Amino acid sequence: MIDFSLTDNHLAVRDMARNVAAKVITPNIREYDRAHKANPELLEAMASANLLGFCVPEQYGGLGMDYISLGLASEEMEYADTSARVVLSVHIGLYCLPVLTWASEEQKQKFLTPAAKGDKIGCFGLTEPGAGSDVVGIQTTAVKDGDHYILNGEKMWISLANNADFFLTFAWTDLEKKKKRDHSGISAFILEKGMDGLTTAKIEGKLGVRAGDTGSYAMQDVEVPAANLIDKEGSGFKIAMFCLDQGRYTVAAGSCGLIRACRDASVTYSHQRKTFGEEIGQHQLVKQMIADMEAAYEYCTYLWMKAGWLKNQAKRSTKATSLAKWIACREAEAAAANAVQVYGAYGFSDEYPVERFYRNAKGASIYEGTREIHTLMQADYALGIRKEKDLDRDLPVVEQ
Ligand SMILES: Cc1cc2nc3c(=O)[nH]c(=O)nc-3n(C[C@H](O)[C@H](O)[C@H](O)COP(=O)(O)OP(=O)(O)OC[C@H]3O[C@@H](n4cnc5c(N)ncnc54)[C@H](O)[C@@H]3O)c2cc1C
Repeated sequence: MIDFSLTDNHLAVRDMARNVAAKVITPNIREYDRAHKANPELLEAMASANLLGFCVPEQYGGLGMDYISLGLASEEMEYADTSARVVLSVHIGLYCLPVLTWASEEQKQKFLTPAAKGDKIGCFGLTEPGAGSDVVGIQTTAVKDGDHYILNGEKMWISLANNADFFLTFAWTDLEKKKKRDHSGISAFILEKGMDGLTTAKIEGKLGVRAGDTGSYAMQDVEVPAANLIDKEGSGFKIAMFCLDQGRYTVAAGSCGLIRACRDASVTYSHQRKTFGEEIGQHQLVKQMIADMEAAYEYCTYLWMKAGWLKNQAKRSTKATSLAKWIACREAEAAAANAVQVYGAYGFSDEYPVERFYRNAKGASIYEGTREIHTLMQADYALGIRKEKDLDRDLPVVEQ
């Protein structure tokens, strides 16, 4: 049976996210975006509304909600601003859900429960100055020394780096495998704020997500207890790919929020602005742009919902998630470009929000797998070069 209806829990999470967005983000987003500054109240507001761990099981401090709820909250956050959806993508998608799935019981108590309650913030450190898409090109190393590992390296373009308490970090533990570019030599660790030799910095001059915390961190001889190794040596690449399966899902759903924001802003303006004696919404070419946004919103929603439906049943969702992310980001870029077009010269000014949508839309075709990487993935699935195998671990099955 196909059922597109949302449950009361889904509607409650959606309303919760919508309220936080309307109260905390929308009123002053233009000022924060202009100032390239993160809203200092956002994380606390999201924590108080239980938005930082709602799809983590209750035993680890969350609300035990399903992955459709995560998609809905992502959409609402990005409707207000991409920077707020990034918080969900990183803290829940790239940090909490992987820790839930791959960490030991003791590690979950220490690194998941406080994060799911919103008392601590997690981030995800894979990208480096010299390696993004090419994950095995990372240079960070973790050398075993008794009951510690010594980490050296630099992580770049890390969302929430300057607010994070926990840094899920990927590093080579097998230096022979590093030389051979064999990804089974990569391991995952959690670094903790305040560790000697761990320093963070803000990235200045960004095109978009200006109200978000995007940073870098450097590790100089950081002594990390062996107890902070997640799973076992060599699992790092699998864990990183698992993280991306969850983060990409929130980017896909969030992009639908951006498409909807573009559509709503375009509809409003199309009723206000008149040319040649009528509202611009009466001109067929303007209708075309709005119709494209409407269609994109609908079909991109179905794509992320299918991925969420698979996740709820703990079925492998890499292909569905990649497709949803690729297409929703592509359509969000197109919708934002058209929204600027609908506004004419006013779209070129930050008096209206559409230029922010346009700048924000670009980032999502770069992070969590570039447009090109997802294109290649989908072609490889179709060609039979890539296959959807069962994972060693998966998310817990959740009731909808
Ligand atoms: C706002 C923002 C937030 C981010 N947050 C995080 C974060 O929290 N954590 C984190 O680890 N990273 C984060 N990133 C980094 C992001 O994941 C990387 O930028 C991304 O993986 C691409 O890597 P790159 O920038 O090094 O580009 P490259 O990998 O150098 O690619 C450059 C270009 O070449 C293309 N290309 C590369 N390889 C191929 C290929 N095989 N075939 C065809 N084309 C190819 C790419 O598609 C791209 O167009 C963030 C980035 C941004 C912009």
